[in-house]
Amino acid sequence: MKFLSAFIILSTLLFSCNSPAQKKDTKQEAFKVTKTDAEWKSQLSPSAYNVMRHEGTERAFTSDLNDNHKVGTYLCAGCGTHVFESKHKFDSGTGWPSFDRAIEGNVAYSTDRNLGYTRTEEHCATCGGHLGHVFNDGPETTGKRHCINGVALNFIPKE
Ligand SMILES: [Zn+2]
Repeated sequence: MKFLSAFIILSTLLFSCNSPAQKKDTKQEAFKVTKTDAEWKSQLSPSAYNVMRHEGTERAFTSDLNDNHKVGTYLCAGCGTHVFESKHKFDSGTGWPSFDRAIEGNVAYSTDRNLGYTRTEEHCATCGGHLGHVFNDGPETTGKRHCINGVALNFIPKE
């Protein structure tokens, strides 16, 4: 009996330890737009696919949208949902398009500990495509910095 209880304690410990799969909160939302991995791969550019479907990060200062100061709307590159407005864009100096807020209701958030600390991950609420992260060192307006991969966005200038 002693051996058995030791075994039970040991297996409980083993299974309660953090496995890599538990480091990331799984996205539980049901998205309006769902596609298979193969469909996303054929629809998106290789860099957009890596960012949006595998939470990759584009290299800083590589997106044309980083320096874009035109008036218009930023759309999710996966499904066309309007996610950011040009009036909320600011120059953060980080090399990634940055906004002080998103279009409310069109983005959703999860927690990510991929780098060993907790970050707020941001994705499109319609298709689940990863957009970037939100940090609390933004401008006075909201205090938030939405640090977004330009490759996950399409820009539509205002007519
Ligand atoms: Zn989307």
